[in-house]
Amino acid sequence: MAKQEDVFKKIVSHAKEYGFVFPSSEIYDGLGAVYDYAQNGVELKNNIKRYWWEAMTLLHENIVGIDSAIFMHPTIWKASGHVDAFNDPLIDNRDSKKRYRADVLIEDEIAKIEDKINKECEKAAKRFGDKFDEAMFRQTNPRVLENQHKRDELHARYEKAMNDNDLAELKQIIVDYGIVDPVSGTKNWTDVRQFNLMFKTQMGSSADSTMDVYLRPETAQGIFVNFLNVQKTGRMRIPFGIAQIGKAFRNEIVARQFIFRMREFEQMEMQFFVRPGEELKWFDYWREQRLRWHKALGLGDDKYRFHDHEKLAHYANAATDIEFRMPFGFKEVEGIHSRTDFDLSQHAKFSGKKIQYFDAELNESYTPYVIETSIGVDRMFLSVMCSSYEEQQLDGGDTRVVLHLPKALAPIKCAILPLVRKDGMPEKAHEIMNMLKFDFACHYEDKDTVGKRYRRQDAIGTPYCVTVDGQTLEDNTVTLRDRDTMQQQRVAIADLPAILARECSLNNVLRKLM
Ligand code: ATP
Repeated sequence: MAKQEDVFKKIVSHAKEYGFVFPSSEIYDGLGAVYDYAQNGVELKNNIKRYWWEAMTLLHENIVGIDSAIFMHPTIWKASGHVDAFNDPLIDNRDSKKRYRADVLIEDEIAKIEDKINKECEKAAKRFGDKFDEAMFRQTNPRVLENQHKRDELHARYEKAMNDNDLAELKQIIVDYGIVDPVSGTKNWTDVRQFNLMFKTQMGSSADSTMDVYLRPETAQGIFVNFLNVQKTGRMRIPFGIAQIGKAFRNEIVARQFIFRMREFEQMEMQFFVRPGEELKWFDYWREQRLRWHKALGLGDDKYRFHDHEKLAHYANAATDIEFRMPFGFKEVEGIHSRTDFDLSQHAKFSGKKIQYFDAELNESYTPYVIETSIGVDRMFLSVMCSSYEEQQLDGGDTRVVLHLPKALAPIKCAILPLVRKDGMPEKAHEIMNMLKFDFACHYEDKDTVGKRYRRQDAIGTPYCVTVDGQTLEDNTVTLRDRDTMQQQRVAIADLPAILARECSLNNVLRKLM
């Protein structure tokens, strides 16, 4: 585990050193859990968003996009339940003065017990070798049984307390299980309180006309309140979807793990409106469809798993997360929820408008049911970075750091490098650049040795380097170097567009989804 944490630290500093992600307001010592995307990061992020947007809106004739405002009428958040219930239970430690989420402290304790059980099993597996029967061991070993019992008991108490919204019981669990502050190591806890995660600000210029508005904590509500507008102006027939990419804001209590949990982040959400009674069929469809979208990038099929929710929000009748194996464990990257007709019904109730759909085939009006797919751009970005990062030992004792980014997502597709800065090579390199730049993100670089320039492009994840040398000026060929294999081949300049299109085009990934 410690090793994985080291790897994660290296990824975070790599992201800064190579222009992917900077801490926000760094010259003022930063701002908690807010980050800026740098010159390479923004390209990678835009490519991720393009992949999602095109998969939704180009590949599905019945999905259209919108871009709704961040500020919305405050009653929307009353209707959606966010004003009353978008809370996390927080607890402070009086010694360290640190603030924690009570639920996370308890979940970490459960994970610790799990760890103990797994370690016991691993030890036994080593001891018994091929003869080891893990299922039998888990059923009979006294230490494992004791820990399983402890875990189940804790889990049951925790779940009940969360379901009942019982803050005193959450505190009692922390006391009973002797959970200590990871910083101070003490048990000097305050009571547990609810903390609303929405940021509030004021709109309007005069004292009488100002009203409290919120920075949206999710983009989804902008879709629900535009349901009728889009359905009517787009002449959409159910089933159909509305997609949106945009910023969301949450005043997270504990914001750590880099861009995994931020206070300002970006979501890609799609709400799919269906006939009542057909929602579970569509839930299954989107569950599979979304996993295929992730896997088509080729980051490794074993890195994903579903986590089906046992405890459902009161308005949902099915929910699952797609989790990705980050260096700090499997973590949620995307949520897929069957939200019933809750949101549209609530907005009908609070706005007093009729929000229904007339289904000509059935000759009846109804409030559509909704399947939501909701993925965080930043968590997706992090999963791509983490699974692409490699420190490679090369023959001859040399090492390199390489980002094996999916080629279609790489910020720069091709670096164009004149071997030396004279003899007409820079001019030739610019000529090639001018030919390619309309279709591919290219980068011209003539500083340092070619070897150093290759390493720099490897660290940024550039799939191809084109080197212009003396021979180029004679026969219009270049060397094309592959990031992953480091092999070089001589190719005609005229063939470069076709090679780059074949290897780096987003269309190739999109086609895998059909
Ligand atoms: P978590 O349990 O990790 O707080 P959540 O279940 O509250 O996440 P949702 O409300 O389902 O998250 O939001 C959908 C997606 O938005 C998440 O799967 C995640 O990718 C992203 N997301 C949510 N909160 C954050 C955040 N603070 N920073 C970055 N991304 C986030």
